[in-house]
Order: sequence, then C-alpha cells, then structure tokens
Amino acid sequence: MVTENKVSTLAFSTQNLTKIYGEGSAAVQALRGVTIEIPKGEMVVLLGPSGSGKSTLLNILGGLDRASSGKAYFEQRELSAFTDSELTRYRRNHVGFVFQFYNLMPSLTAKENVELVTEIATNAMDAEEALGLVGLKNRADHFPSQLSGGEQQRVAIARAIAKQPTVLFCDEPTGALDSSTGRAVLRVLQNVNKELGSTIMIVTHAANTAKMADRVVHFADGGIREIVQNCHKLSAEEIEW
Ligand code: ADP
Repeated sequence: MVTENKVSTLAFSTQNLTKIYGEGSAAVQALRGVTIEIPKGEMVVLLGPSGSGKSTLLNILGGLDRASSGKAYFEQRELSAFTDSELTRYRRNHVGFVFQFYNLMPSLTAKENVELVTEIATNAMDAEEALGLVGLKNRADHFPSQLSGGEQQRVAIARAIAKQPTVLFCDEPTGALDSSTGRAVLRVLQNVNKELGSTIMIVTHAANTAKMADRVVHFADGGIREIVQNCHKLSAEEIEW
C-alpha cells in the first residue's frame, strides 16, 4: 500500500535509462543508466555541464525521443512502451515545452502564436488568459519582432501553459536573457508551478536557477551524480545573476 501511494504521487520514474546516438565508431552514449523519481507538482532543475545528458533525458520524458534501453513511466504508464500515436497524444495533451530560442512564428501575433496550441489541445484555456498569466495581456496583438527577448519568451511560456500541461519542460529557458528579464521569466515559471500545479523540469547549466527548485539533479557524463532537495527555496527575485 505504501508503495502504491508513493507511485501515485510520481509524475515520472525511470529505470536504468540509456541513450546511444549513432552507431559504431560514431556512437555517443548520452545516458548511461539513469534511474530517477520525479514527484508530481515539483519544480526540478537538471544541472550539469554541457553534453552531460540533461536535454536527452528531458526529450525522452517529453516524448520527443526514445531511450535505447531501460524504462520510463509517466504517472504509472510506461512511456517507453507508447506507440508513436500514443506519444503524439501524450505530447499534445500533457506536455508543454519551452526552449532557449522562443520558436515563435514571426508572421503571427502573440495571441495567434498561443492559439496554435489552444486550437488543438483538449482542456486548453483561452489564449488571452494564458497571456494574462505571463503578464502580457496588453501585448496580445503584437508580433514577435515588436517584443523584447524576455517578452517573446513569456509568449512561448504562455503557448506552452495554455493547454494546462501536466508537465512543463524548459530547456535553458533563460539562456538568452539578461538578468532582469531572466528573473521575470523565472517568476512566471514559479507562478505556473504554484497556480496550475504543473510539474516543471528545467534544464540549465546555470547554478543560480537551481536555487528556486524543490529538487536539483546534478548530471555528469550521462548519469546522475547527486540529487539534492532544497530546504530553502529562493523566489525568482532573490536569485543572483
Ligand atoms: P546537455 O543537455 O547536458 O548539454 P545533451 O543531452 O544535449 O547534453 O547531449 C549529451 C550527449 O549526446 C552529447 O555528447 C551530445 O553531443 C550528444 N548528442 C545529443 N543529441 C545528439 C544527436 N541527435 N546525435 C548525436 N549525438 C547527440
């Protein structure tokens, strides 16, 4: 019973996950047996040097890529056994992605960029409501070129959260931003975690971002070196840049 309760509180768990890109002499072992449990509703930061496997794990948990071996579970369902169409449905209905470069459509307004998602996802909120959550309701009709980098990233976050994702994956979300816009973006992520209850996983090589996480997973050389629970989380405003 105790085990069952524990399992039902997990967003993800993995067992001995490996990933090898390429073959033969060109093969790169990106993950070397990753076993981890991610509780629902937490903000988790994956920290480590470039090339240590963080994005690879994020992409596998986000259903963008498949592991070479091992198992991954999303809320007790075996993600690693999903068919391609099950993975597509999983991404569409449960997962939001935010990348370092915002990937907005330049010919669409902020609102239209968000609507690209709200029109296909089930349980989506209104595009304007999503823009309101990131503090950009009054910029709904602006094109990406009329917005600053931080504002564009907030539109990308609005697009990702509009479907009310169970999980939000962020890969270097503040990597291209200066300190004050970076903090504003982290504040938005903190609000999403609190208000929508989404589990958030953030890949970064910036140790400062880790200070606002519930849990920090330290990566090195394709594996987990250490997992540290943060007893004293900082707010986005308290983070030094
Ligand atoms: P991180 O996110 O920690 O920077 P990655 O997960 O992106 O690390 O990469 C881990 C390793 O896998 C690196 O050596 C990287 O070069 C390699 N890698 C990542 N994606 C690919 C790919 N599509 N093809 C070949 N090698 C890759």
